[in-house]
Amino acid sequence: MRRLRRRNLQLLFKEFRIFRESLIAPLFVDENLRGKIPVPSMPGVFRYAEPEIPDLARRLYRAGIRAILLFGIPRGKSENAEAAYAEDGIVQRSIRAVRKAVPEMVICTDVCACEYTTHGHCGIVGETAQGMDVLNDVSLDLMAAIAVSHARAGADIVAPSCMLDGVVFWTRAALDENGFEDVLILSYSTKFASALYGPFREAADSGYSFGDRTTYQLPPSNAREAFRESELDVGEGADLLMVKPAGWYLDVLARIKSLGLPVAAYQVSGEYAMIKAAAEKGWIDERKTVLESLISLQRAGADLIITYYAEQVAGWLDEE
Ligand SMILES: [Zn+2]
Repeated sequence: MRRLRRRNLQLLFKEFRIFRESLIAPLFVDENLRGKIPVPSMPGVFRYAEPEIPDLARRLYRAGIRAILLFGIPRGKSENAEAAYAEDGIVQRSIRAVRKAVPEMVICTDVCACEYTTHGHCGIVGETAQGMDVLNDVSLDLMAAIAVSHARAGADIVAPSCMLDGVVFWTRAALDENGFEDVLILSYSTKFASALYGPFREAADSGYSFGDRTTYQLPPSNAREAFRESELDVGEGADLLMVKPAGWYLDVLARIKSLGLPVAAYQVSGEYAMIKAAAEKGWIDERKTVLESLISLQRAGADLIITYYAEQVAGWLDEE
């Protein structure tokens, strides 16, 4: 075996490579800001003000990033998240700004309510037999309205992340009805109720005021249930699937790959924060750790990788 690993042959036998074109950069745009502010638990990640978005999109594109995933933080939150589907909402305006600045950029948008609701949950809440919870069917129209408003603003790909039953079917029907047959659905099809989302809640201001998300997100213990979630979304018309978080769920990623659709892996805020923190302490080599984490996602079957390291990785790939 060691003949294969001779130094001058190593590149020749490389089974997987990271492509900049497969990376998706998440982006937070905050309607309350006049200039970007750092996210304390995610060094190097910022919340941006709306006027900064065009330049940022141009910078990412120059770095080789071809796709972004937009999250919005609105000025006003409400019980039923009306700002999430407003024609002139923060995400809708940002989509238009990116489209104008970089027409070729692939614009993906997060379709959810948690940044827009006063209670911080991913849909409309109400009393159930087990107390207050997200109401499934009542929330589907809200998700469809958000997705259609993003499509109307010019999004290429909408990504429902609420983990409500039937959301992909409902969204597909609404997009088609409104003339957006070409807009893709990237389903957060396999999203676990993970401890690794902590820093994101700070970044997106989406913490919840009661309960938790375990009544709609997947339990980390359940791989079969995770597969079934993605399988159902294929049936409902998803174009792309997702596993979130990424690194601790490689077995799930590999299994879901077998469904035949392109799969995105979301390297989440907690994964980013852990690497950053250890690197800042000098305990690990940041660059090697990040690249190894991404190649492990490719090995497991990821076609697309959503990572807060996207821009930095693009730079590192240039240097290699
Ligand atoms: Zn949400």
